[in-house]
Amino acid sequence: MTKSSKGKELQDKLSYKKKNFWKISSEKEREHAFVFADEYCTFIDEARTERLSVELTEQILKTYNFLPLTSDSSKKTPGFYRINRDKNIAIFRAGKKDISEGCNFIVAHIDVPRVDLKQVPLSEDGTTQLGIMLTHYYGGIRKYQWMAIPLALYGVVIKEDGTRIDISIGEKDGDPVFTFADLLPHLAKDYRDKKMSEAIDADKLQLLFGSIPFPDDEIKDNVKLNCLNILHEKYGITEEDFISAEIEIVPAFSSKDVGIDASMVGAYGQDDRVCSYTALRALLDSKDPALSSIVFLADKEEVGSEGNTGARSDFILDFIADIIEFQGYDSSKILRKVLAKTNILSGDVTAAINPSFKEVHEKQNAPLLGSGVCLTKFTGSRGKSGSNDAHPEFIAKLRKLFNSHHVNWQVGELGKVDVGGGGTIAKFMAEYNAEVIDCGTPILAMHSPFEISSKGDIYSTYKAYKIFFNHYGG
Ligand code: MN
Ligand code: MN
Repeated sequence: MTKSSKGKELQDKLSYKKKNFWKISSEKEREHAFVFADEYCTFIDEARTERLSVELTEQILKTYNFLPLTSDSSKKTPGFYRINRDKNIAIFRAGKKDISEGCNFIVAHIDVPRVDLKQVPLSEDGTTQLGIMLTHYYGGIRKYQWMAIPLALYGVVIKEDGTRIDISIGEKDGDPVFTFADLLPHLAKDYRDKKMSEAIDADKLQLLFGSIPFPDDEIKDNVKLNCLNILHEKYGITEEDFISAEIEIVPAFSSKDVGIDASMVGAYGQDDRVCSYTALRALLDSKDPALSSIVFLADKEEVGSEGNTGARSDFILDFIADIIEFQGYDSSKILRKVLAKTNILSGDVTAAINPSFKEVHEKQNAPLLGSGVCLTKFTGSRGKSGSNDAHPEFIAKLRKLFNSHHVNWQVGELGKVDVGGGGTIAKFMAEYNAEVIDCGTPILAMHSPFEISSKGDIYSTYKAYKIFFNHYGG
């Protein structure tokens, strides 16, 4: 073996370098990463909406004997959960230390950018005699990415009497799919020169829904009537029922292994179901956690965390207050104190450097796909506007924890300083005066119908969360 030069030695000692998971991990750990990714894919292929994410999360919790949090908390159980309006869920697991010492808390979101149906959606285009559904997009999407791909419909219709009808069309064997038909290049001259942001107006997102007319020459809009008739026969619903419905249009394809080495996952909805799933599994798989553990899977992050199922709702505070009460304390006296002693990882994805668009990243401070879970000190845009800016004292403790447990982690920020930006739930959690930092999985093609993550990073995120629950504050 050749002796390394003095400069090399010094460099190794003094420099910060990101580490590639596939270079530093053991054979066994790579195997774990592949197995974990398969389990994750099973979850995201079913958790197509926030409601389905909550349903599936509850199913998993039940297999671990977790119970709904009610006034009778005396039952022997590893933990409790509470669901809010079928669209978000909080999960609690007691730690070795008393709750008055604070909690370790991971928050992530289960809503995903998508296209929703309008409340009076069904329409017949007079010229083409095609049945279409009118839509309204949700969250930040690049609309052109949604054209010319197969799409599925998921959601609920609530009838006047309160009955819920679950809709799911497009991903079961034999199901039809839907699509937004795109323009042919031959006639795209006027569109070719448009700005990308103007090429597809929101009203171009018209979902192709049907084309057979109802056989009756006496009436107009026969195609629309035929569509309504099929929906009525299948689901017992009328046009007015759409007014109390919530139906989401999502890509009609399941997750795929990406790359000749199958090292990556391509799927819709990884922002932020990847942090949601890894947080859930970390809470369930951690052994004898130091402090009490909480996972909160929130809705509405993609539209600013507003609304009573978003992270800014008092739901999570009420949940923690009830836990405190059930442990024999007066929550009105200690809730604020518990929160101030609480440590929060805001689990959300971040943007890894995209080989085709390197110019939007500042390479030294941007995360790399495959170099582990990413700690993001601040988000926001321009001069850190609208950001939680985590404290170095907190980061130092996490560094020590992750390094001592061989978690593959990296630091990273979202894009060049003045290029754009983005926010997460972190700043809302920081309002409780808790310690908060963003800590999540780097991905490519964020908010697209086919987002890309690394199996190494998914596994590293899970490992980081598990280590955090097991040891932080212990
Ligand atoms: Mn997100
Ligand atoms: Mn997002």
